[in-house]
Amino acid sequence: MKCKGCYKETKDGYCLTCRKKLFDKARIPDILPFDPPKGNNLASFQQHTKRLSISGVQLKYSLRLEKKQLVLTEQNGEYILKPIPAAQLEALNDVPENEHLTMQIAEQIFKIPTAANALIYFKDGTPAYITKRFDVRPDGMKFQQEDFAQLTNRTKEANGEHFKYDGSYEEIGVLIKKYVATSVITMEHFFQLVVFNYLISNGDAHLKNFSLIRSEEGEYNLAPAYDILSSVIHTPQESDTALDLYEKDMESPYYAKYGHYGRENFLELAKRLGIQKKRAVKIIDNFTTKSDAMFQMIGASFLSDETKVRYINNITDKVTRLIGVVDDEITW
Ligand SMILES: [Zn+2]
Repeated sequence: MKCKGCYKETKDGYCLTCRKKLFDKARIPDILPFDPPKGNNLASFQQHTKRLSISGVQLKYSLRLEKKQLVLTEQNGEYILKPIPAAQLEALNDVPENEHLTMQIAEQIFKIPTAANALIYFKDGTPAYITKRFDVRPDGMKFQQEDFAQLTNRTKEANGEHFKYDGSYEEIGVLIKKYVATSVITMEHFFQLVVFNYLISNGDAHLKNFSLIRSEEGEYNLAPAYDILSSVIHTPQESDTALDLYEKDMESPYYAKYGHYGRENFLELAKRLGIQKKRAVKIIDNFTTKSDAMFQMIGASFLSDETKVRYINNITDKVTRLIGVVDDEITW
């Protein structure tokens, strides 16, 4: 069978490499010994959510490893379990695998640091996404983590429901420069993540989906990628990006002409983030030349055939835009 972590052939639900990454080598079956938790108030929650986004309707449960078994827990959770959202979304049953596949594409094809993750099933056969918390240290203590809504002092109380969709990726870059000692490398990682989210049509990469995490030595680093999926498959009305790339980006000649971002806009963002042109071009080109590997992985995934086709078509569109015509040469 295929490993529910990395898609490689394996005898059990998870291959040894994935068991090491996720479960301290324990032989965890890919079926949980319980049914999806019930008794939520999602219907009322949704009524209060103006913008229907994946993050707004995604329930999360906490799990821990106890005597080599995964159990639901209130405290000291080591894993986050995300079942199929109880919401009216397109291709609803594919949400868990969409997140798992997207994380695997990021990790395996583009070498983007990601939180360890896999697909798992409840006893009743419905799928869920499972990820190991990267903010929990081996001794159970927590690394200090702050997302960019916190770092830019935006809250629901002060800035309204839409608070995590305000701002721009450029603004996050300014804070990375301020807090991260190794900011040159980190900025490239961050830029890579922004382009990746565009490539796979994640319109939900908002301020809370990027974080800084403090190491034991007290240094801030960009947290590994989390909460990423091709969100447009489930919420087709969504805009291409959750945040602006930079202020007034839609007034750029390219955007004005084509009505969407293209290579030019991402090069301009890279310039504003202080990334060398040569490096920016290399990063973008890496994303436009790996379609075969991506399509192969999508084909091997546990998505429905219909969703596989949509995922592939979306990538094809975005690759075209990222290869893009550059009408105005940017002076760096
Ligand atoms: Zn594996």
